[in-house]
Parts: sequence; C-alpha cells; structure tokens
Amino acid sequence: MCGIVGYVGSRKALPILINGLKRLEYRGYDSAGLALLQDDGLLISKSVGKIKHLEDALGDRSNSQASHGIAHTRWATHGEPNYVNAHPHTDNNCEIALVHNGIIENYRTLREYLVRQGYIIKTDTDTEILAHLIHFSYQGDLVEAVRGALTQVEGAYGIAVVSSLHPDLIVAARKGSPLVIGQGVDENFVASDVSAMLEHTNRVVYLDDDEIAAVTPNTFEITHIDRTRRDPQVEEISWTLDMIEKEGFDHFMLKEIHEQPTTIRNAIRGRLNFEEGIARLNGLNLQYDELRTISRIIITACGTSWHSALIGKYLIEEIARVPVEVEYASEFRYRSPIVDSQTVLFAISQSGETADTLAAMREAKKHGATVLGIVNAVGSTIARESHGGVYIHAGPEIGVASTKAFTSQVMVLTLIANLLGRMRNWSVAQGREMIEAVEAIPAQIESILANEDAIKAIADAYHQATNFLYLGRGINFPVALEGALKLKEISYIHAEGYPAAEMKHGPIALIDENMPVVVIALKDPVYDKVMSNIAEVRARNGRVIAIATEGDTEIADRVNEVIYIPHTHRLLTPCLAVIPLQLLSYHIAVMRDCSVDQPRNLAKSVTVE
Ligand code: GLU
Repeated sequence: MCGIVGYVGSRKALPILINGLKRLEYRGYDSAGLALLQDDGLLISKSVGKIKHLEDALGDRSNSQASHGIAHTRWATHGEPNYVNAHPHTDNNCEIALVHNGIIENYRTLREYLVRQGYIIKTDTDTEILAHLIHFSYQGDLVEAVRGALTQVEGAYGIAVVSSLHPDLIVAARKGSPLVIGQGVDENFVASDVSAMLEHTNRVVYLDDDEIAAVTPNTFEITHIDRTRRDPQVEEISWTLDMIEKEGFDHFMLKEIHEQPTTIRNAIRGRLNFEEGIARLNGLNLQYDELRTISRIIITACGTSWHSALIGKYLIEEIARVPVEVEYASEFRYRSPIVDSQTVLFAISQSGETADTLAAMREAKKHGATVLGIVNAVGSTIARESHGGVYIHAGPEIGVASTKAFTSQVMVLTLIANLLGRMRNWSVAQGREMIEAVEAIPAQIESILANEDAIKAIADAYHQATNFLYLGRGINFPVALEGALKLKEISYIHAEGYPAAEMKHGPIALIDENMPVVVIALKDPVYDKVMSNIAEVRARNGRVIAIATEGDTEIADRVNEVIYIPHTHRLLTPCLAVIPLQLLSYHIAVMRDCSVDQPRNLAKSVTVE
C-alpha cells in the first residue's frame, strides 16, 4: 500500500533511503522506518508520523556509513499505526529485516504455527510473520529462504529483505503490489514507485507477480517463485523529477488542476482523425470487426475512476447504443457476475494497481471476457494483465485527490465512445463534430482556470458550511458525485451528490439557509428541469452555487452564485463542469487549513482490498 525503497551500492545508503521515502510521502502514510546493514549487524530505526521524525529518531546514527539498506513508509492495515508495528520487521535474532506493502491474508494461521515452533511475535502486523517465516526457511541462502516463505503465504505483497548474514544483497519480491528495480552504476535500487529512485537512475525493471529478485550492487537476477529465470528488459523512464515537483504551486493538487489543459492534450494526442471524425485507439488491440460486434460492456472501477466510468456509460450508450453496466470493482468480484466471452470489460484505475479493480479484471478474464485497461501508470499491473487498453497519459498524479487523471479518463472514454459509435450508427458528421469539440477542450479549460479568483471568492463565502449538496442531471450527474467526493476528501465537509430531480425524494428535507447546493445547470436539454430543481432549493432558503453555460443571461438572478463555463458539445460538458468543482474544493480545503495533498485516512494507490 505504501512505500518501499532499498539501496545497495557503495555510497552512504541513509540519505538515499530518506530522500527516496520523501519522494513517496505523497502516497500518504502513518509511520516510517529503515534498516541499515552495518559492520556490527542491522541498525533498525522507526518512528510514528512524518519522515522528519524518523530523521530525528536517528540522532547520532545519522552518519552511518552503511551502503546497503531498506526503508518503508507504512499505511497500516493490520495493527495500529504505532512504533512497534512500523516496518522493518525482523526475525527474533535480528538477522533478517523486511519491509512489506500489502496484506498477508493467512497470517493468523502462520502465526499460530510459528508460535508453536518457538518464535516470539512482537507486533500486531501481518508482516512480522513473514520475517519469521523467512528465518524458519533459511538454510544459508536468503533468496531460497524468501522463496520458501512466500510459497506459504496467501495475500498481496511487495517486499524487500536484507540480512546481516548477506552483505550487499537485497531480496525483493512481489505479488499484487508494485515493485521496481532501478539500475545504477555499481549500485542498484529497489522501490515500490520509480519516483523514489528517479534522481539516481531512470533505468528500471518492473517485477511481475510471483517474481523474486536478488539485487546486488552490480547484478540483479529475477526468478519466478517456481525458479524459472527471466531475462530482465531494462526500460528507460521518461518522467523526470521536475515533472513530479510542485512547479511553483502551493500544492500538488493545484498544480495538477492547472495541468489539465496539457494532460488532456496528451490524452488525445495522435488519437483524433478529423477527416473521418473518428478516434484512433490502437492499444485496444481489437479489429474493426470485433469493435463492431461488441454487444455488452462492463466498466469497473473505484472512487473517482468509478465516476468517470459512469460518464463513460452515458457516452457509450448514447453514441454507440451498446449497453454498459458500471460496477464498483469491490462488489463485482464477489457477486458471481454474469460474464462470458461476449463481454468486454474496461477496468479504470489511475495507478493501474488498485487491488479491487485488478481483482475484478482478473475475475472477468477468468470467465473469458475481453479485458481492457484505462490506466495512467505505464507498465502497471492492470496495463500488463489486460488484453489491451488505452493509457490516459496524465503523468504522475501526486495529490491524493484525483483531478487530472479523472478528466483524462473521461476524455479517453469519450474517444472510445466515439470509436464504437462510428463503427455503428454515428455518421462522419456526428463524429467530426465531437472530435472538433474534443480538440477545443484544453483551451476551454484554460479559460475556466483563468477565472480562479472568482471561484476562490465563492470558496471564501462558503468554506464554513458543514454540509454541501451537489446536483446534476444526465451526463453531469456523475460530475455532481465527483464534486461531492472532492470536497469530502480534502476538506472533510460532508457532501453528497444526487441526480437533481431525486432531491425531492429525500435530500430536500435537509435544505435550509445553511445548506449550500452546487447545481450543474448547463444549457442542455434538461436545463428547464434543472431550473425547477433550483427553484425548489431557493424556496427553502437553500443557497445555490450554479455552474452555468457562458451566455446564459437568466440564471444569475435565480441563484446566489454563478460560475460560467464555455459552451461545448453536450456530451463533453463533464470535462469542463468538473474544473470549477475541483477548484472550489481545493480553495475551501486550503481555507479550512486541511492537508490538501495528503488528506487524512486516504492513500493514493489503494493496493489492498
Ligand atoms: N499490512 C502491513 C501492515 O499493516 C503493510 C502495510 C503497508 O502496506 O504499508 O503493516
């Protein structure tokens, strides 16, 4: 779930590990720790809270000369986020140290077994069991000991292991939790995320599930858990560290909101055929015939990606007339879904590692479905395990609350819908109209961003509210859900999204002068209906903040605040309507002094179920 960094080479490991952990801070964590291989054995240091505390806790030991070690930021799944439970965990002789991302599901059974063997268990974590298990399997070869332990383990893990008995060796392994090796000169790295090592190397090898890597300063050897060897292909990462810094914005989230014109340009680059009015999406790996005969689509996702999935349903059903079901990944996999070889399933995940989405995808694949990924992280597990897919190319998203990944997902879904529509009943003219509108979106987002001060003033007027309601209809109903989620995530204000007309079936009871209601009220076929919903709110003294279409001269008199967005194709409004909602949430959160980039209790890449 959280962060792993390992270093083996000839430089001082400590600063490399600490800086690596800092690069992973954005993922959210509750405690941190590290193990260094000193001449006199393992040096373990841990602390609750920020990495700064870990540095403080090191005290005199911070000039350790060790050139080999592992470090971790923990997001607790088993056992409180306290000092004892922080990683690394060790065997009882303190000869083997281990950091772990993920969950060992059968840890209770293993614990009972190990206790019977005489091991003393000191923590409440699932992870500690693994350290003892490796010790138990150890017969002089650390890689074999890790292999032996992992064969007994059920669950998900990315691990890095060191031992005082093996100077200059890190053993890393993964199953369901990302891990990557970085190749340097006379030094190598291990991390759960490339950003932790990017200042040292951009040459990386991603581990696949069930693989174990033996990493030394000059070599790395990758074997499957069944002992078959793999010749590693080193990839060069083009993301630079600059790309993952804040670029002058106060927060990553704000930077990412402002990046959206660029990220959308990246999402559509090379994918628009103006003449034919059709999107080009070669990564789907489907022939035209196959695209034309798709008769049923499932889109599965979690959180913000689930909202983009819902927008995808509106788009695909309307444009291509193919039935689409949208499923929470966590629900889908446990309810014996009806899936067969005629089903096409799209899995949407920013990180491409979301555990529930991955599991849902695997379930569908098992039943013969064609599974396609819509992911940001190139080379991620969903990307690798799907039959094809479309990268959204949004670049690293560091703010825990997703913004630019959302709009790029929606853009990609728009292109998919266009393609499927053009394969069926959509004419060239209809396709062209949409493709041209798609191309205009980035500049239109720029114009909304230019209006940030006005949105900030609205945030100022409403930031003390304790509840918000978000309303939208049709394709903008999921935008209302997303607006409410954004506010909840980063400002901790209770917010709900509803289809506007549903309000009168319940939530209207909540409306009074203290309830701001954000309404997406665009000039579209349901405009008049939404205006009636606004009147219902106003009649009960509710305060209305409207997202309206530029040129709408009536709305200002009927609501308390208006934020205008440019006119676009009626099916492309979500990508514009969501921008003011992102900015509103951001400024409200800042005014409430909230930790915008790392909201409490949330993690960026949810790699546990
Ligand atoms: N399950 C482990 C624990 O709770 C690992 C958590 C993590 O991924 O950070 O300690």
